[in-house]
Amino acid sequence: MIIIIINNNKRADGRDFNELRPLKIEAGVLERADGSAYLELGGNKVLVAVYGPREFYIRRMQRPDRAIIRCRYNMAPFSVEDRKRPGPDRRSVEISKITSEALKPAVFLEKFPRSTIDVFIEILQAEGGTRCAGITAASVALADAGLPMKDLIVSCAAGKANGQVVLDLSEIEDKEGEADLPVAIMPRTGEITLLQMDGHLTPEEFEKALDLAIEGCNKINQKQKEAIKKRYGE
Ligand code: UDP
Repeated sequence: MIIIIINNNKRADGRDFNELRPLKIEAGVLERADGSAYLELGGNKVLVAVYGPREFYIRRMQRPDRAIIRCRYNMAPFSVEDRKRPGPDRRSVEISKITSEALKPAVFLEKFPRSTIDVFIEILQAEGGTRCAGITAASVALADAGLPMKDLIVSCAAGKANGQVVLDLSEIEDKEGEADLPVAIMPRTGEITLLQMDGHLTPEEFEKALDLAIEGCNKINQKQKEAIKKRYGE
């Protein structure tokens, strides 16, 4: 077994069990997009561009009463250790779908009938937890686009590595650990907009991991708000 948790209750990268990786979020980094954001979480580097709302050119897919959110999650070929084959694959199609579902509840979509809001998530560098990083950054980019929103959506994973429930899994903890639990919430209401689980947790561990992930989400939410305040002033 690869040792992920080392002595003194510290993880291999020196973090405590409930500690996030260093986080940086910046809003409004691209000039051509309607909204954008850049996020770094540990070794993850994520760029998001938002376009819209604009009329959806595929007539048969238009919704007469609201806008739809289309997400494209894409990993750059150079984002991972072994070159990633360019183009969509099963994983990126799944992550694009769950990202769109996670973001939807926050936006007043009914204000933009027959429209589409396009969210492009580019993973420039990956180190575990890119779906959560993508959702967190996408939500800031949606706000930067000036969309009317109920709240931001924020995402963070918890999981289990070497028998310990830990927050914000690194790549090695994700790959070698026993479970990964990505969560997204709308902090104001506490509504859970994403809940996935890979691996095995007992009901007690599940409760503990979910609480930890929500705690992580609330911390990340502060940084999201700071990024938006920095861009638009207090
Ligand atoms: N990964 C990789 N190659 C791939 C896909 C993923 O090396 O084609 C790595 C990457 O660091 C990613 C991690 O495996 O962050 C975990 O991937 P997972 O599918 O669990 O999604 P994530 O944790 O990034 O949301």
